Amino acid sequence: MNPANFDFHCHSSVSDGLLPPAEVARRAAANGVDLWALTDHDHLGGLDEARTAAEEAGMRFVNGVEISIEWHEVPIHIVGLGFDAAHPDLTGGLHALRSGRLERARKMGDALAAIGIPGVFEGALRYVTNPQLISRAHFARYLVSIGIAKEMSGVFQYYLTPGKPGYVDHRWAGLQEAISWITAAGGVAVVAHPGRYKFSGGEMRRFLDDFKDLGGQAIEVTSGSHSPDHILHFARLARHYGFHASRGSDFHGPAESYVDLGRVPQLPEDLKPVWRLID
Ligand code: AMP
Ligand code: MN
Ligand code: MN
Ligand code: MN
Repeated sequence: MNPANFDFHCHSSVSDGLLPPAEVARRAAANGVDLWALTDHDHLGGLDEARTAAEEAGMRFVNGVEISIEWHEVPIHIVGLGFDAAHPDLTGGLHALRSGRLERARKMGDALAAIGIPGVFEGALRYVTNPQLISRAHFARYLVSIGIAKEMSGVFQYYLTPGKPGYVDHRWAGLQEAISWITAAGGVAVVAHPGRYKFSGGEMRRFLDDFKDLGGQAIEVTSGSHSPDHILHFARLARHYGFHASRGSDFHGPAESYVDLGRVPQLPEDLKPVWRLID
């Protein structure tokens, strides 16, 4: 039987989401999700709580993570699904990957102070729920709270993206590293929200060629950040490459996310859903 409603991309307060893992689980179940993965950024700390709450709520649970990488200096996100969360390649790789975030955040605070917005590092820390995982989302929440922009998207557009004053370059994992951690741990590597990357058609194909050559198996076709045109486009690319297809809301919190848990459009019917690759 096909699970009718799977959501394999969302965040809890273990990274930059607003709700604890068990609350995300209950909200997913209330929205009709029956197969669910929690995919916090670079961190596996919410998986045990999420699994217990998911099973109590009658959902099947799959381990997940969203790994921050760079490919030819472009920041990209790779989702891992269905892995052994105790595998040392994965836990060790993620531990090292997280370690630079605090220093990067201090530099972001300094950069914003230099354009006349002081105290942002300290302000962002008030929004951080896991000291190992300070993210630009916490900066954006604080900057909205002091009226720098009405919404987080405006903060990103004017302050926190490449070329803007609060953006600080960072060394993330490599594509090969992230895929190897996931596959060593028995999981499936998935390209997160491919519609968000500002690639030309040729760059996207080169990226997907590399991803496939290195052992990547799936891409998100439906995503909270995909338009109907993105869905058609990435469905075509999934068919072309023989990738399985994933579906995820990228939910971060009730008032903040474009799409609620489980409320993403269904995958085009001919695509192979990624959960078929997971025991
Ligand atoms: P970081 O991992 O610190 O680079 O932060 C990336 C996070 O910022 C993403 O996972 C999103 O939660 C958030 N983010 C990035 N771009 C935007 C945007 N345009 N609007 C709202 N949130 C965003
Ligand atoms: Mn996030
Ligand atoms: Mn992402
Ligand atoms: Mn995400």
